[in-house]
Amino acid sequence: MTKYIFVTGGVLSSLGKGIASASIGTLLKSRGFKVSMLKFDPYINVDPGTMNPYQHGEVFVTKDGAETDLDLGHYERFVCVNLSYYNNATAGQIYSSVIEKERRGDYLGRTIQVIPHITDEIQSRMIEVAVRDRPDVVIVEVGGTVGDIESLPFLEAIRQFRLKKGRENTLFIHLTLVPYIPSAGELKTKPTQHSVGRLREIGIQPDFILCRTQIPLTEEARRKISLFCNVEEENVIQAIDVNNIYEVPLRFEKEGLTEKIMRRLNLKNRKEDLKDWERWVNKVNSAKRRVKIAIVGKYVKMKDAYKSIIEAFTHAGAANDGKVCLEWIEAEEITEGAEDRLASFQGILVPGGFGLRGIEGKIRAVRFARENGIPFLGICLGMHCSTIEFARNVANLRGANSTEFDPDTPHPVIDLLPEQKEIKDKGGTMRLGEYECRIEMDSFSGKAYKRPVIYERHRHRYEFNNKYREILKKAGLKIVGIYPEKDLVEIIEIPEHPWFVATQFHPEFNSKPQNPHPLFRDFVKAAMQKNP
Ligand code: GLN
Repeated sequence: MTKYIFVTGGVLSSLGKGIASASIGTLLKSRGFKVSMLKFDPYINVDPGTMNPYQHGEVFVTKDGAETDLDLGHYERFVCVNLSYYNNATAGQIYSSVIEKERRGDYLGRTIQVIPHITDEIQSRMIEVAVRDRPDVVIVEVGGTVGDIESLPFLEAIRQFRLKKGRENTLFIHLTLVPYIPSAGELKTKPTQHSVGRLREIGIQPDFILCRTQIPLTEEARRKISLFCNVEEENVIQAIDVNNIYEVPLRFEKEGLTEKIMRRLNLKNRKEDLKDWERWVNKVNSAKRRVKIAIVGKYVKMKDAYKSIIEAFTHAGAANDGKVCLEWIEAEEITEGAEDRLASFQGILVPGGFGLRGIEGKIRAVRFARENGIPFLGICLGMHCSTIEFARNVANLRGANSTEFDPDTPHPVIDLLPEQKEIKDKGGTMRLGEYECRIEMDSFSGKAYKRPVIYERHRHRYEFNNKYREILKKAGLKIVGIYPEKDLVEIIEIPEHPWFVATQFHPEFNSKPQNPHPLFRDFVKAAMQKNP
């Protein structure tokens, strides 16, 4: 019998429900249980793929090509699993599948309603995870905040689910904020009381309350929350602010959360090994060396848009006994003559992105890195910019560009594949998910991966144009990674450079704390060797 843990959020968003859910995953996994994850997003978009990064942050791409919420990235990193399209469900998906069934006539003339049809569909998504992944425990995070109109069908569905599966198989955890008010010198429990009140109104009594707090939870606050929220004092858990998100599982463990969850769900300890995780966290916290890397991008005011890149740098920093200090540079600000701003960095990264804004600034950043021997990593759009820069400034192809930015360019070094040209719909139609790549071993990438065949995740429409392969190769560009089935260029490098790699895929999605991505690891290593 699969057990279900439901994580809801109260008071306000951004309290770290995703990290809390992922951390509970880390803890149960450390006790030998097989864990799977499910994120419900109450918005009507079918997936976040069509959303602006300013609205939503990063779109995390799974191995099988689903465009999902960025919390799935946390789950993969914390629980060390590969997730799938069925591990993230939006209201949009739930409604469209109900409507599709209605059109097919599956409901045999009945009136289709939120209860039971939408709520049944939500529950079927929870069961699907158990059927496909065969876990001991599924952790279900309900997106949004209790009290939102959109979250209601999801909360109603989990309430019904408890009724069906029983108390010993389901657990409700509610994350709230316990703010410290300096003028009163007190932690305030009222917002928590109200938000648990809303939950109880719809029939959900939380078993645990995680209290996000700036300062340690006082006994008095704990007592009050317990009394007013009807939760045992020992199940009021402190979730104190931390500098390093990977510490959260260790903090919860200290509060005895793992034992308490196991007791409630009648799970028997199978092993215990949080030691590796703890060692790694200590390594991150005590790393001495510092390395300064610039990210030249378009969404730099919205750091969540680059979540997996930031995390990949944490992993790569630790692997090199150091910490990567990231600086965010708005690509539009790298105007002609402003490139010197980049001179003090030991590494430059140009990340993925869409659309024309900032492109010329990114191309200037690539040129600066290439000409000044600054270690460079280009990802997806960053690889497009690297190709354009090389074509224009080394191979003398004047006006070279991607047809994404200039449909009439005389040298379309980046272009759509014929099959992409026919696609009209925007949602879910990019080249998505994992593809094979063959690597030439005598290259920066070959030395990093140390194996000739790799699999990496994609999310793009435009590709390196093979018509320009020979010209660019003759000018000194090295093509070191190929997707064999379609002969597509996956990795380019500049050999006469300390370290210059640009990839069509997104390596950041595959980086894990104790298994840092080889390209990020070697990029940081090269950056450390460069004098600041
Ligand atoms: N806009 C480019 C494309 O669609 C790059 C996408 C990306 O960087 N993820 O191909």
